[in-house]
Amino acid sequence: MRERARRVVSDEVGTIVREARFRMALVYPSPYRAAMSSLGYQIIYRIVNERELWSAERAMLPEDVGEFRQGRWPLFTLEGETAVGDADVVAFSLAYELEIPGLLDCLDLSGIPLRGAERSDEDPIVVIGGPLTFSNPLPSAPFADVVVMGEGEEVVGCLLDAWEGHSGRAEKLEAIAAVAGCYVPSVHGELLLPVAAADNVLLPGCGQIITPHAELANMHLVEAERGCHRKCTFCVMRRSTNGGMRLADPGAIIASIPDAAQRVGLVGAAVSDHPKLCDIVEQIVDSGRGVGLSSLRADRLSERLVGLLARGGYRTLTVASDGASERLRKELQKVIREEHLIRAAHFAAASELRVLKLYMMIGVPGETEDDITELIDFCKEVSQIHRLALGIAPFVSKRNTPLDKHGFAGIPYVNGVLKRLRKELRGRVDIRSVSARWAWVEWNVAQGGFSMADATESAWRAGGGFSAWKRAIAEFGGEDESDRASWS
Ligand code: SF4
Repeated sequence: MRERARRVVSDEVGTIVREARFRMALVYPSPYRAAMSSLGYQIIYRIVNERELWSAERAMLPEDVGEFRQGRWPLFTLEGETAVGDADVVAFSLAYELEIPGLLDCLDLSGIPLRGAERSDEDPIVVIGGPLTFSNPLPSAPFADVVVMGEGEEVVGCLLDAWEGHSGRAEKLEAIAAVAGCYVPSVHGELLLPVAAADNVLLPGCGQIITPHAELANMHLVEAERGCHRKCTFCVMRRSTNGGMRLADPGAIIASIPDAAQRVGLVGAAVSDHPKLCDIVEQIVDSGRGVGLSSLRADRLSERLVGLLARGGYRTLTVASDGASERLRKELQKVIREEHLIRAAHFAAASELRVLKLYMMIGVPGETEDDITELIDFCKEVSQIHRLALGIAPFVSKRNTPLDKHGFAGIPYVNGVLKRLRKELRGRVDIRSVSARWAWVEWNVAQGGFSMADATESAWRAGGGFSAWKRAIAEFGGEDESDRASWS
């Protein structure tokens, strides 16, 4: 295990190895490939390592948890190869609901009691942060001692100040509970606190480590902007969440790129809304590097931009259309029209990209058979212009959005729509979809409170398969999988 970890670290550029008085284990509840593609995770890694008294060392969910358990290996950090359970603070970055079982695996492998309420002065303080805290951290909160709500750059420093200034678990947690942006479940109870926003002077955030073993291999990650100024009703990152869109200076983006970077990933919820995007991408591509964008709106595409992306290594042009029909997109305030998507297909063809991929949600509130018929007709039309693929996700309503509390469309409904799409678009459109069953699990957790932490732990203890989740969700008050009563 240690040999394997050493090989991975030896291929990295930018690893920070240092000794300090206090140690934070920064744990990602998914494997290395996903962890090192997370910009937020890398930003916190650098910030903590900049503190005189602290070092941050990374650990991730092992690829094969069973192998770790069988060998009785404790989860250890990559930099110091020290046990996660021996750290002073163990901090997790949670991206979405279905990563919570991975967090339980990591706690279990570290020998740390799963629940905050079960921990003693001998145990580290467990902190949870990350994208999930923008919507609903409650189902993960009983496993945390502290939840950092929203953007963590400044909050994490204040949290560590409070930790340093007090002794004893109870005193530390009481002091941390007074820090803005820190939610301490044992003090605040079952309550959603507002999310924090970092100061603009901290932008653009950029990655620390480049590695060939990440999903975004050999890529330097840097923010082109943060947040979004739009108001799609299903989206957690809409403008009301963390103060709208904050643009990064193009000069600062380019200056952040290290010599070792073969590719540059421009990160942000609404990257293609950056008014200088074409110029930034052109400079990157002209320097001989590949480029990747974390989001691309169809109505922001131009021949120039798509041509630059093709030069920067793009083979697939991916845009989100979200609603199945023009009417639904309008209701979702997505403001993407058919003409934008058709234009995207022409751009993809002109730049000789392999495929146009459309992200789509089904089971959106108010969706009817006519909307699905419109989607099928539209896909047939687009597939005559260029090769088309659909990436489909069943709609899962999230807290902290206008569509909060809308019910799940139902597993039979979602499977029925998928069956129809596959049948009527066979041979013309490649269709990939998130499973209806797991979307239903995600919906229950996303909408839940502390009781969904009980359900998650129960499902995890029973092996984590779908039937274990189904039993656990029923036992702890979730909604029946076939119930469409609240879906309208
Ligand atoms: S879906 Fe995209 S454009 Fe819409 S609010 Fe979210 S980030 Fe902004």
